[in-house]
Amino acid sequence: MDRERILLTPGPLTTTLQTKLAMLRDWGSWDADFNAVTARVRSSLLKVIHGEQSHVVVPLQGSGTFSVEAAVATVVPREGHVLVMDNGAYCKRAAKLTSLMGRKCTVLDFDEAAQVSPQVLDQKLAQDPSITHVVMIHCETGAGVLNPLRDVAMVCEKRGKGLIVDAMSSFGALPIDAREVRFDALVAASGKCLEGVPGMGFVFLRKAILDQCAGNSQSLAMDLYDQYQYMEKTTQWRFTPPTHVVVALAEAIAQFEAEGGQPARLARYTDNYRTLVDGMARLGFMPFLDPSIQAPIIVTFHAPGDSRYDFKAFYNAAKASGFILYPGKLTQIETFRVGCIGAIGRVEMQQAVHAVELALQELGIASGEPAI
Ligand SMILES: *Cc1c(COP(=O)(O)O)cnc(C)c1O
Repeated sequence: MDRERILLTPGPLTTTLQTKLAMLRDWGSWDADFNAVTARVRSSLLKVIHGEQSHVVVPLQGSGTFSVEAAVATVVPREGHVLVMDNGAYCKRAAKLTSLMGRKCTVLDFDEAAQVSPQVLDQKLAQDPSITHVVMIHCETGAGVLNPLRDVAMVCEKRGKGLIVDAMSSFGALPIDAREVRFDALVAASGKCLEGVPGMGFVFLRKAILDQCAGNSQSLAMDLYDQYQYMEKTTQWRFTPPTHVVVALAEAIAQFEAEGGQPARLARYTDNYRTLVDGMARLGFMPFLDPSIQAPIIVTFHAPGDSRYDFKAFYNAAKASGFILYPGKLTQIETFRVGCIGAIGRVEMQQAVHAVELALQELGIASGEPAI
């Protein structure tokens, strides 16, 4: 087939031809033209969250997790105590990296089929005044749950705790307004809802806490404070920048703005989500989550109950039709995931459903209906 495969995965994801073409040039890291691109990207990113007054944004080389790790290491003092609200795989990763950074870490457990609870957080913070910071994942990409950012931020503000938000899979698609929601750090990356290519993250840091961040990081490469100071002073990245990723992101952001910014992106992803879930329902598939807490970013489906189902074979059959599915990330039950994000629209989602239908036929499965 001529068309490139469509990635129905939560990053890397399908990018436009224009974004790919932006990478066909080499750039010097000292060059003023390249540094102007970095400055433009940073200023556009701040606008997405209306953070021009309250926050700065610090880009960092690496995948999204590098930036989460850097945010924790930079914002939390070494003697700090972090509470991680856990309703899925990315929360568990955040807790693990917090411990590995040498910060005291307490995990507050929630069901992976439910949102985290601001009320339970409030009680926990009242019980344990030694907690200094809270980490939450905005969209838990593990199951696809949208967590209540605004209410969690209100609890943290009321209790005087710092808040670090992993908004990796929500930034650019779901509304986040720094004028209304208080957070010390918010983390996202190039290769998710902005539809750039993977290779860099970025962290919004609240100006009011910036000075307190000096010297917190025990890692040189992950020190966002140092990266920020250096970038402000020189306009350059501290170490070799991911030049092609940066120019691709600048191009992807120009398309994002032309499309109508966050509201337009949310509208397209919501349409993708509805097209997917409606089409899959016709094939008998059932989503894992209650729709009221489902983000229109990635959908977890129960695996078909038919004994002929095997994820690898199912995946390969869908791939032969040009669609890349994603394995499930739940520990207890058999699931698979389908992303709704990337440079794709209704037609691609209809074709994806058709690819799933063909995959079922190939495996000799009559319906996607789960066993439960
Ligand atoms: C994608 C993602 C990350 C980062 O994952 P990487 O593999 O490091 O890019 C972190 N948190 C969430 C919620 C994500 O969706």
